[in-house]
Formats: sequence, C-alpha cells, structure tokens
Amino acid sequence: MYAPPVQRLITELSRLPGIGTRTAQRLAFHILRTEPEEALALADAIQEVKDKIGLCERCFNLADGPLCTICQDARRDAGLICVVEEPGDVIPIERTHEYRGRYHVLGGALSPIDGVDPEDLKISELYARVAAGSIREVVLATNPTTTGEATALHIAAALRERTPDVAVTRLASGLPVGADLEYADEVTLGKALAGRRAL
Ligand SMILES: [Zn+2]
Repeated sequence: MYAPPVQRLITELSRLPGIGTRTAQRLAFHILRTEPEEALALADAIQEVKDKIGLCERCFNLADGPLCTICQDARRDAGLICVVEEPGDVIPIERTHEYRGRYHVLGGALSPIDGVDPEDLKISELYARVAAGSIREVVLATNPTTTGEATALHIAAALRERTPDVAVTRLASGLPVGADLEYADEVTLGKALAGRRAL
C-alpha cells in the first residue's frame, strides 16, 4: 500500500509501546511532512542514547559511564540499598527527597508465567553486593503488584538466609495496590518510604 521505506517506518513506529498501527501511520506522515533536520534530530537522539547510555556496573541504573551519577556521589549512604524493578522507578523515589542511599535495579519482576526467573534479573548481583559487607538495610521498593510482591518476598527470604544481620524492609502501604511506582505522587511515595517495615 505504501512505498517500502514508508511501510518500514510505520512498522518500526508500531513496535513502540502504546502505539497502534493507526497512530504509527499518523506519526509516519508527520515525520514525512517535517523538515529533514527536525526529523533527523529524532533519529540522532535515538542513536546517541543507544551509543552512550549503558547500565551502571554496580546498581544497573542507567549510566553514561561505568557508574551512574548516584553511585558516583560520595555523599550517598553506602549502607542502604533500595531495590527497584526498572531504572524509571529511581526517579520518583529521588523526587521524594526521603532517601539518601543507593539503588539496585533488577531489570523487571519475577513472573514464572512470562518466563521471568531469578536468573533473568540482577538478583544474584544484589546478593553479592549485600554479602560484600557494609550494607545495613535493603529497602524492597518493587511495585505493589502481584509480580512486584512476589519478587520482594523471594529476595527477602534469600537475604534472611544469606545475610541475617542485614535489615530487609518493604515500602509501607498507602501506595495504590496494583499501581506502578512510576505513577505514585511524591507525598504518598515519601510516606511509604518513611514508614517502611521489616519484611
Ligand atoms: Zn549505580
């Protein structure tokens, strides 16, 4: 129906989350109408982010070098690790200004039905960090969803066995059940952090 290059662009756009075929077509026609330099700025931004951004070798947050900005910051409390599912979950917790420790980004949540097992996430790397010592507390801030809860319980059980001296806490309730951390407001999330409980 379309010239192959146009069809290719529509196909690529429709792979993006939340973009159906009709929206992909609309975006493709928008791109076709815009000035070359404007459209190429998008291509260039994608290229740059893929070239320059990787994962922090310590906490697996997004980083433009070996360590992310949080791990590089010597003022952060190195005895505290907050475990989250995705790099996007670090931002709302930072916005609360309630947390001064470091992070550990799992890269998802356990979901055996979808084939996500412990070895698919950065879980063994977390155990290694905690076992290396100087960690007082691990705050499990996975999402209050079925998979997020299952992940928190799995990690809590393993940590209790491996490193019984380290406190393991979970965000207090008050977070809407079934919601993503990413969409929680700062006040609710700040309270959930302040009221975290032992797990
Ligand atoms: Zn890091």
